[in-house]
Amino acid sequence: MGNSVKNLAILGATGSIGRQTLQVIRSLPGRFRIMGLTAGQNLDLLAKQIAEFQPKFIYYQSVNKHHKLTDTGCEFLSLEEIASQPEVDTVVIATSGKAGLLATLAAVRAGKNVAIANKEPLVMAGEIITREAKVSGARILPIDSEHSAVWQCLNGEPQPPARIILTASGGPFRGYSTQELNNVTASQALKHPSWQMGKKVTIDSATLMNKGLEIIEAHWLFNVPIDKISVIIHPQSIIHSMVEFADGSFKAQLSYPDMRLPIQYALTYPERVPNPELPKLEWSKIKTFTFEPPDFTTFPCLKLAIKAAKTGGTGPTVLCAADEVAVELFMKDAIKFTELACLVKQVLQEHKPIPNPTLEDIMQADNWAREYTLKLAGKKI
Ligand code: MG
Repeated sequence: MGNSVKNLAILGATGSIGRQTLQVIRSLPGRFRIMGLTAGQNLDLLAKQIAEFQPKFIYYQSVNKHHKLTDTGCEFLSLEEIASQPEVDTVVIATSGKAGLLATLAAVRAGKNVAIANKEPLVMAGEIITREAKVSGARILPIDSEHSAVWQCLNGEPQPPARIILTASGGPFRGYSTQELNNVTASQALKHPSWQMGKKVTIDSATLMNKGLEIIEAHWLFNVPIDKISVIIHPQSIIHSMVEFADGSFKAQLSYPDMRLPIQYALTYPERVPNPELPKLEWSKIKTFTFEPPDFTTFPCLKLAIKAAKTGGTGPTVLCAADEVAVELFMKDAIKFTELACLVKQVLQEHKPIPNPTLEDIMQADNWAREYTLKLAGKKI
C-alpha cells in the first residue's frame, strides 16, 4: 500500500455520491488522481470540477452544450470508453437509475475495481455483471451503506453468512397510514430523516422500494439466496446492516450516517484511513436503538421487489424500469405517492419474465416497462 496513487474515474460526478466522492478525495490528498469525470445535467459544476481536478477524460450528456467544455483540453469519450480506459484503476459508478448499466458492464469487462453506488445496474443485470466479473477478475466494491456494512462484516470470514439483515431508516413517512400517504408531496418525500442522497434514491427510501432493490443488490453481491435476506426498520440509522453466521452469532457495522464513510472504504480498501472531516459517533448522546418490522401493507413496494426478486429473470429489470418512470411522474406531481406502487404492480403483472436474460432481453424488457408504465399512467415525461 502506501505510496501508490489510485487512478479514478467518477461517473456521475455532479450528483450526490459524485460530489461526496470528490469531498473524500480532497480530504485525503496524495492518494488519488482523477482520470475521468462525467455528468448528466449539471454543466456548471462539471466545469468547476474539471478546473479543480484536471481529468484526462470527460463526458457530458447534452451534446449541444459540449462546446462549453472544448477549452478544457480534456478528451471527450463515452461513459463506456472512460470506464474501460487502461489508465483507470477504479471506476466509481455514481450515476442514478439505469444510466450506469452499460458503463458498469464496460468497467467490469475491463477488469477494473468497480466502486458501485448505483444499485440499478446490479438489480437489472446482476447475473451478467457478476458472471463477467468472475471472468475478468474485476472487483465489485459496494458503496451503498448497507452493502458496505455487510461487506465489512464478511471480511475475514471463511464461511458464507446464514442470513443478512438489512437495516432501513423507514424514511420520512414511517408510521403513516395509507390514507395519510395519499396526500404527501414530492417535497415532503425528499426530506430524508437521516441520509443525504440523490432524488431518485430518496423517493425510493420513502416508498421502501429502495430496500427492496437493496435485497436484490445484496443477493448478487454476496451470493446469498433472497429468502436469507431480511429487512428491519432501525430509525436511528447507526447500525448499517447485520450478518448472522451459522452458530447464531451476529456481526454489525455501526457509524455515524454519512455516505462519505462507505465511499472512502471502497476507495481505500483494504486500508482504513483516518479522515478528520468525517463525523464521529458520540456514544454518550445515543440513548436508544430501536427496531421494528417493516409495514408491508402500507408500503407495498417492498413486497413487490421481493416478489420480482424471487421470480428472477427480467422481473427485477421491469421492477426498476417501472419504478424509475413512476418516481419521475411523482416528482412532477403527475401521480400520487400511493399510485406509484400501483403502477409498478400493474406493470409487473403484465410482464412475462424471461429466465437467464441476455443483455438484449434486459434492454427490451426495460424499454417495454418504461413505455407501459407511461401508458398506464396516461402521461408523458
Ligand atoms: Mg442504502
